[in-house]
Amino acid sequence: MDWLRALPFLGMHLACLGVFWVGVSCFAVAVAAALYALRMFAITAFYHRYFSHRTFRTSRPLQFLFALIGASSVQRGPLWWAAHHRNHHRHADAPADPHSPRHGFWRSHVGWFLTRAGFRTDWSRIPDLARYPELRWLDRYDTLVPVALAVALYLLGAALQRWAPGLGTSGPQLLVWGFFVSTVVLFHATVTINSLAHRFGSRRFDTRDDSRNNAWLALLTFGEGWHNNHHFFPGSARQGFRWWELDLTWYGLRLMSALGLVSGLKPVPAWVHAHARDGAGR
Ligand SMILES: [Zn+2]
Ligand SMILES: [Zn+2]
Repeated sequence: MDWLRALPFLGMHLACLGVFWVGVSCFAVAVAAALYALRMFAITAFYHRYFSHRTFRTSRPLQFLFALIGASSVQRGPLWWAAHHRNHHRHADAPADPHSPRHGFWRSHVGWFLTRAGFRTDWSRIPDLARYPELRWLDRYDTLVPVALAVALYLLGAALQRWAPGLGTSGPQLLVWGFFVSTVVLFHATVTINSLAHRFGSRRFDTRDDSRNNAWLALLTFGEGWHNNHHFFPGSARQGFRWWELDLTWYGLRLMSALGLVSGLKPVPAWVHAHARDGAGR
C-alpha cells in the first residue's frame, strides 16, 4: 500500500460526509451531475477509446482539452491510464492483469492502484502518447488539475452565495457536491468495469477472459458495460454492438464527428458479428 496516495483517496471519501454540514440545493446537485456526465464522457471517449485504443482521430488542441477534463477526474493522467489499460487487455484475467477480480474483488475495484506497483507508469506500452510533452505534463502533475477544479468550485459557490443568494448555494456546498461527491461516484462507477463487468452479465463472445456484457453498467458508464463486446474487439469506437445496446459515448462521438471535431470513428467489422453466440444479427 502506498499511503501517500491512499490517504488523500480515503480523505475524498470522508469529505463526502460534508453533505451533512453544507446542506443541499438543486444547483449543487445539478453541478455534481453535470460534472459526472462531462468527466465520464472524457474518461470513456478519450482516456479509454481514444488514448488507450486509438479508435478515432482528433486535433491536438482537442486531444489536450479532453485529457485535461479527464485529468480532473482524479484518475491520474492519460499516459498512466492508457498504459495500465493496455496491460489489462494484454493480460486480461491472467496473473499479470493489474486488476482482475480473479485476484479478489476489492483488489480489482480499488486495491490495484493504491499499491506502489500500481502507481508506476509502464512507458513501454505508450510510445505513441509519450511523444506529446503536454500529455507528459498532465501525468507528471496529476494532482494539479483536480485541485484547480476544487478551488474553482469553491470560489464559484462563494460568488453565487453573494450575488445570487436565491440559488441557496455556498462555497463549501459546491466544493462538497461538485467536487467530492461527483468525483467519488464517478470513480466507483468507472472501476465497476474492472470489478463487476468481469463478474456479472452475459457473454456473447468466447474471449479468454471473464468479461461480461451488463446493461446496468453500460447505463452507469455511458456504454462501457458492453465489456465482453469490447474485449472481443477493442479496436472499435463503438462498444454497444447492437442497435439496442445503449452506448451514450458512441452517440456523443457520432455528434462530435458530425460537427467535425473528431474523425475516422472505427466501426465494428462484419466478421465480429459472425462470431457472436447469439447469431450474426445486428
Ligand atoms: Zn476488462
Ligand atoms: Zn479497453
